[in-house]
Amino acid sequence: MVRIRFQNFKEREPVKILFNLSGRQMVWLVLTLMAMVTIVAVGWVRQEAAAPISPSEFTVEMSIKQIAPRINVTNKNLARELGLSLDVSKKKPVKTLGVTQEELDHAIEHLLGHREATLKYYIIAALALFGLVYLVRLGRPDGSPVTERKTWYPRWPYVAALVLAVAIGGFALGKSPNPMESAVKVFKSLVGLYPSIAVKLGAFAFFAILAVVGNKLICGWVCPFGALQELIYHIPILRNLKKRKIPFMVSNILRGTLFVVALLLLFGIVGGRKGFVIYHFVNPFNLFNLDIETVSVGATILVMLVVSFGFYRPFCQFICPFGFMSWLLERLSIFRVKIDHDRCNECGACTVACPLDAAKDRVAGKAFPADCFSCTRCLNICPKDAIHYEFVGKKAQPE
Ligand code: SF4
Ligand code: SF4
Repeated sequence: MVRIRFQNFKEREPVKILFNLSGRQMVWLVLTLMAMVTIVAVGWVRQEAAAPISPSEFTVEMSIKQIAPRINVTNKNLARELGLSLDVSKKKPVKTLGVTQEELDHAIEHLLGHREATLKYYIIAALALFGLVYLVRLGRPDGSPVTERKTWYPRWPYVAALVLAVAIGGFALGKSPNPMESAVKVFKSLVGLYPSIAVKLGAFAFFAILAVVGNKLICGWVCPFGALQELIYHIPILRNLKKRKIPFMVSNILRGTLFVVALLLLFGIVGGRKGFVIYHFVNPFNLFNLDIETVSVGATILVMLVVSFGFYRPFCQFICPFGFMSWLLERLSIFRVKIDHDRCNECGACTVACPLDAAKDRVAGKAFPADCFSCTRCLNICPKDAIHYEFVGKKAQPE
């Protein structure tokens, strides 16, 4: 096997992994970077081709029926956003319904904020591709023995991907699309708040596929709010607090219960107000539009970011509906953390390294283990070389 080593660079952490990669891994790296550039370039071209919409195009002389299709929402959704009853006349000019130009501008700006930036899908796909290749092919230099495990999976490529996810996938391109809203919008379409369920299902399928190709890859590597929490958790303070983990049973019951309650409210089975979206009041993705619509949204963002200094991804663990759905989907993941139980002597090293119960549950062989965010922390820790990130069907290598 061709190995590329430049000893002079050995102590320089950011480049160390590059120069320990085998020739084959270098080919993987170059091809991956080329694929990422191509994906983003295609996204850029498609984004440029999409016609922009400005809120100033709309006036209070227009009716809900004239405005709603142009911003791709249903009449009911626009009426709700304007604070009107859902059965208000959709044909009258909105000024006759008591709506001011300022209120109309604000409502349209908010709804356009949900408009999905086409380029963002491509950025997300490119970052996810990098994450997957890093986890499966690049994090561990080919042929590197277990005694060198501390050099495997250096953190900086992961941190770099997280910074890009927050900066570009979040602040530069705005909050939509994102995995959490994609899940909620499928159910909103079912109660008539979006014109086409197929479009919303397509967006959700995109994120779900990225959660399945690599175990929760979209959450672990690309979701901007997940990435922001992950980056904060990386700050090396409150180490003793970080050793305390919230029992998975507790966090998952709360997250699952919220999900069920949200559906009951949305469908009007409880509360009698069909179309009520509880996640709207705790949606932290508004941060990326710099649009803190309600006090509860601001409080959610603040609390979740502050708690992230000491606890791992509180929003993902306790609230996010996509987090809950992608946890269910983990059983289908194609590439994932796998424990070789013949090698594992249950020393607990990975359990300590893992910020959740994910490694512990996998060592114990649980059928429904805690969420694994493909964060890499357990992949360079095992003295028995019993943990690998690999294809689900791959057979264990003999010792
Ligand atoms: S679980 Fe976390 S990372 Fe995943 S979509 Fe929700 S907020 Fe993002
Ligand atoms: S440390 Fe835990 S969450 Fe991270 S990859 Fe390993 S099992 Fe998954």
